[in-house]
Amino acid sequence: MTTIAFIGLGHMGNPMAANLVKAGHKVLGYDLITENLTAAEGNGVTIAASAQAAVADADVVITMLPAGKHVLSVYEAIARGAKHGALFIDSSTIDVDSARKAHAIAKDHGLLSIDAPVSGGIGGAAAGTLTFMVGGSDEAFAKAEPVLKPMAGRIVHCGEAGNGQAAKICNNMILGISMIGVGEAFTLAEKLGLSHKALFDVASTSSGQCWSLTTYCPVPGPVPTSPANNGYKPGFAAALMLKDLKLSQEAALSVGAATPLGAHAEALYAQYGAAGNEGSDFSGIINFLRDAKREA
Ligand code: NAD
Repeated sequence: MTTIAFIGLGHMGNPMAANLVKAGHKVLGYDLITENLTAAEGNGVTIAASAQAAVADADVVITMLPAGKHVLSVYEAIARGAKHGALFIDSSTIDVDSARKAHAIAKDHGLLSIDAPVSGGIGGAAAGTLTFMVGGSDEAFAKAEPVLKPMAGRIVHCGEAGNGQAAKICNNMILGISMIGVGEAFTLAEKLGLSHKALFDVASTSSGQCWSLTTYCPVPGPVPTSPANNGYKPGFAAALMLKDLKLSQEAALSVGAATPLGAHAEALYAQYGAAGNEGSDFSGIINFLRDAKREA
């Protein structure tokens, strides 16, 4: 049994903490929102009065917070009071620069650290099947692996500090671009009189095959479990896709990488969200594409 502090018990943090409790760990939780604390308590998490109180006796500290500024302010507040040699795991999706600053804060206080963002969404968090993309030293990774296991379907060590976040934003840039590509293909097919089923049957076994088509098909029918069959209820909300695309473009700018399709995908998701779809699943962008006017 490991004593784990879990800070940030929202949509993702709560089910992740619940899986750690089920695996037999002692989990001390903290969040700013009372109802999230109540839900966590119902899952067997011991509620702490503050982030500092949660970490005082913890061997491992996990953060699952909205953005880089939240992670850095929490790290600044708790690193001094943590047990010497404790392992800090940040599973939030944040910018690479903030992730590397968080590692530096941990190092300055004699702590081990990894960045370990996830994919798999709320469903994967509940089922304990998240993919963890890990950046950090071999020593920190070896210590983290057994702790992550009850929450994970797959754990990939991507290299040094910040590389987990780098993998996450590169993966989600592919996803954002490919979903638009699949949406455009179905939109064109509709106008050409080609059925959804015919396009799916061809492309899903041809060179157009990809996850956005075969697992998360943006039109109802071909993949019964995709959000298109459920009114585009998330799933993975368009606002989160836009967040990840923005992070990819900030990173591309900071290192001088040309990502023209990533930039275009960000602009399209910004328009889709601004039209009142932030809370819809990101695959609903097909409806926005279908309604768009072709520029001559
Ligand atoms: P959320 O908003 O539901 O949860 C974040 C929690 O952090 C909130 O409960 C908030 O009160 C808490 N918090 C903020 N500042 C705090 C502080 N100083 N101290 C303590 N608690 C604090 O968000 P979420 O959907 O759980 O996402 C968390 C992270 O996971 C984000 O970085 C997101 O991008 C990433 N992520 C989300 C999904 C998803 O499908 N929701 C999928 C993959 C990755």
